[in-house]
Amino acid sequence: MRKSHVMTILLAAAALAALAQPEARPEDTEVWSPVPAVVTPGAYVDVAPPSDAVVLLGSQGLGEWAAMDGKPAGWAFKDGVMTVDKKAGNIQTRRSFGSYQLHLEWRVPAGIVGEGQGRGNSGLFMASTGGGDAGYELQIMDSFNNKTYVNGQAASVYKQFPPLANAMRPPGQWQTYDVVWIAPTFDSNGAVTSPARLTAFHNGVLVQNDVVLAGETTYRGKPEYHAHGPSPIKLQAHGDPSAPISFRNIWVRELGPAAQPH
Ligand code: MG
Repeated sequence: MRKSHVMTILLAAAALAALAQPEARPEDTEVWSPVPAVVTPGAYVDVAPPSDAVVLLGSQGLGEWAAMDGKPAGWAFKDGVMTVDKKAGNIQTRRSFGSYQLHLEWRVPAGIVGEGQGRGNSGLFMASTGGGDAGYELQIMDSFNNKTYVNGQAASVYKQFPPLANAMRPPGQWQTYDVVWIAPTFDSNGAVTSPARLTAFHNGVLVQNDVVLAGETTYRGKPEYHAHGPSPIKLQAHGDPSAPISFRNIWVRELGPAAQPH
């Protein structure tokens, strides 16, 4: 066989292989049912930081936060309330954390418009492992009478675990997240020795019960782990066109070995 014919056959085989394995589409990893039951939460309770907490957002401004390039965080801040600036991009903590307990409050603005993932989308990344949306996202968005794939609605571990219930308050009201994050560990070759685990309450309702993550959350394709140590906590400036959401009262308590699963 002539060399050019061999090349033609090889190129054809490569094209066929590419056809057999199309690029992963985002919708391939969407799950739409069963839909988590709607649970109306009880009244808001103010959970002030305990004595050993690191206050990440209180009355003192955005000093604990930075833009992804390390410059001061460009989001708005007034009277203890921080509001996403979508043009400024994601922000993350200046400090790094391993395993921790975290409290965070967020509010979708009253009168917000948009639908599906395009309504009040943000996100809490338990560990920011790189730029963009790298890490492990607990979804933040408006899931009050707003249908989307259930493994992407509020309080989902994005595209891994739908919430056990939909405990959203309506837009305009403050929502609380209380999360226990057990960071993954890796050996010296970068292999996972213990995967990440997460427990979360949304407005006091259990929404994630010690779920074991398959890797970092991802818009396309399957989750994978990439070895990392203590990491910043990141908040998402999602590109959807709806009005920006706000945050307040964020604090974290680092957890030592006694809090690890056993
Ligand atoms: Mg998000």
